[in-house]
Amino acid sequence: MKARKKILIVEDNRLNRELLCVILEQDYEILEAENGLEALKLLEENKDKLSLILLDIVMPVMDGYTFLGIMRENEEYSAIPVIVVTQSEDDTDEVTALSRGATDFVMKPYNAQVIRHRVESIIRLRETASMMNLFQYDRLTGIYSKEYFYQCARELLTDNPDKEYDIICSDFENFKLVNDMYGVKVGDRLLRKTAELLLRAIYGKGLCARLDSDQFVCMMVHREEPYSDDMFQRITDSVNRQTIASNVSIKWGIYVVRDRKTEIEQMCAWALETARSIKGRYGKYVAYYDDEMRSRLLHEQEITACMEQALAERQFHVWLQPKYRLDGSPLADAEALVRWFHPEWGMQSPGVFIPLFERNGFITKLDLFVWEEACRMIRDFDAQGLGPFNISVNVSRADIYNLDLLETLTGLVKKYGIAPERLHIEITESVITENMEMIIHTVKKLRKNGFVIEMDDFGSGYSSLNMLNRMPMDILKLDMQFIRSEMEKPARQGILRYIIGLAHWLKLDVVAEGVETKSQMERLKNLDCDYIQGYYMAKPMEPADLEGLLQKQKDAAGKKRKSSGTRRNEKEPERVLLLIDEDKTIFQRIRDIFQDDYQVEEASDEDGTVTKLALYGDRIDVILLTVSLAKQNQNALWNLAVREKKVWNTPVILLGESDAVSEEEALLMGADDFEGLPCRDQSLKMRVLKAAEKGRASRQ
Ligand code: C2E
Ligand code: CA
Ligand code: CA
Repeated sequence: MKARKKILIVEDNRLNRELLCVILEQDYEILEAENGLEALKLLEENKDKLSLILLDIVMPVMDGYTFLGIMRENEEYSAIPVIVVTQSEDDTDEVTALSRGATDFVMKPYNAQVIRHRVESIIRLRETASMMNLFQYDRLTGIYSKEYFYQCARELLTDNPDKEYDIICSDFENFKLVNDMYGVKVGDRLLRKTAELLLRAIYGKGLCARLDSDQFVCMMVHREEPYSDDMFQRITDSVNRQTIASNVSIKWGIYVVRDRKTEIEQMCAWALETARSIKGRYGKYVAYYDDEMRSRLLHEQEITACMEQALAERQFHVWLQPKYRLDGSPLADAEALVRWFHPEWGMQSPGVFIPLFERNGFITKLDLFVWEEACRMIRDFDAQGLGPFNISVNVSRADIYNLDLLETLTGLVKKYGIAPERLHIEITESVITENMEMIIHTVKKLRKNGFVIEMDDFGSGYSSLNMLNRMPMDILKLDMQFIRSEMEKPARQGILRYIIGLAHWLKLDVVAEGVETKSQMERLKNLDCDYIQGYYMAKPMEPADLEGLLQKQKDAAGKKRKSSGTRRNEKEPERVLLLIDEDKTIFQRIRDIFQDDYQVEEASDEDGTVTKLALYGDRIDVILLTVSLAKQNQNALWNLAVREKKVWNTPVILLGESDAVSEEEALLMGADDFEGLPCRDQSLKMRVLKAAEKGRASRQ
């Protein structure tokens, strides 16, 4: 049975009270009070449940006006309607009653019909009004509610047929995280502050409302000049200053109202979809809903409809892109990159579907598949004797929140019988900056259990050197775009050298991504980068093709081992590197550096040098000569080298400590190049190879 509405009757005269009860008790539950004071007590106890009060004015202890005065000052009671019961015919009583806050009045003696009617209509009126109130404003933020916004927006469009409007919707990048990390109170405060900022920004210029949990909508007169990311970034910045959750990001989508026949709800949905579509894109805060966006969103709907089936039918394939070591040894590891072979659309690249899967959560299912494939490949390569070959897999933001990574990955490597360090985990920089504490915690556990962590896309977003220092990891992957922009700068202005230096100092290996040209590769080599990955070396390929490469590499290594074995016995290597060093301190070092490139011959005095020059003559590719001022023989050795240079065009490179000779002096003396001591392996190697090439060219 439906609960009856409650009415409070305040009347000192018992007969009158009973009369009122008889009139109303059929339809209402009645509470009775004999005076104002008693009434206040009942009011306190029933404030939320009272639908109406019938109030006599003249009463002992506390009269009706006093009661009404107290009631109207208290916000909690102010919404309850009060009908005052007056005695006299004199309408001053009625005026006084209304001015003191009564909703209506009835006159004694009571007319049952009139009373029932008044009571009923007032209760209904009040309920509708409070419904209206609820309906109009959003309870949390106090700005318009979605329904009211729709209604106002519709009216605005109808009343202003000549004006163009923009509908602008916003969505937080990852609001759930704010609630999870800082608690719902902070989340609520963030929403209230955002609403306040919007209201202030839009005041007098348009409408704004809360669309849904963390989404807002504004409608303003169309702006001809396109909105820029900067403008919306400033809003994000202001929002971030409002609470302790200071790393939120808000994305905005704009629908320019061109077709007014479209439902306003649909316009908002498009604007919102547009905002969502740029989630995860750094530096991008706003996008317009246009034809391109429209077809993209339509395509996304199609993708969503068939993704599960695609996974079940194995339309997703895992390809591998090799990483190459820059120290001369070849193909090292590979990155697993997913490809989708759709029966109608053909091959789809991850750029099309990964961002969508990251938003709709499907990425986790797909990644589980990719990780398992990667483990299987590691095992298979091992079984064919092609390993040890490590594969890195990408881990998405959603994976970290949805899965117990350690348990999942440990389960996988166990299943395939491979060591955890064979599976490298790539976590992108933006995920790390978003929630550093949690990632540090997760990553520590993974590393403790043997997995190798690569930080992906370093330099693409808000990476900081501090993060490098705090984040436990093994390998730093430099972002493709970062590499590209660094390569465009003159070497001295770039920061790449410092980043690589710092990474090495932190004992991290460095991988450069997206290397597309020889010159990029050489420059990275000069900068002491450890690995490169990019189209210049190899594009992502089917595992079978990579297997072919590994097989070839294995065969070549076998041959080389065999042939170099015989060569050492029967025939000398063709080209010679002559090292003249009186102190013999760097013989071993030079031998090590050039063991794969040259037969290194050594001399430490005049006689020795003459002999070697005579023996090898034009087979000497480069002469390395160490200089130190304290030595008497210096000139004699130098003269010998120069003579050789004149005869055979053999390049001479001076090696010296900076207090012995400067680079400038060396070049002035006529040396072809100079390397400071103690020498750096890569750098010396580059100089020798370059000089040799120059020498050869001049001899031809
Ligand atoms: P990423 O992890 O930064 O992967 C590197 C991307 O750069 C790959 O694009 C690769 O094909 C491309 N690339 C490599 N070398 C070059 C180059 O020299 N030039 C150019 N222009 N591009 C190069 P892809 O395969 O299209 O993947 C794009 C992104 O999609 C990846 O970026 C990664 O964030 C995501 N992704 C790919 N596969 C997966 C996956 O299985 N799981 C997850 N979670 N994300 C994946
Ligand atoms: Ca990656
Ligand atoms: Ca990357």
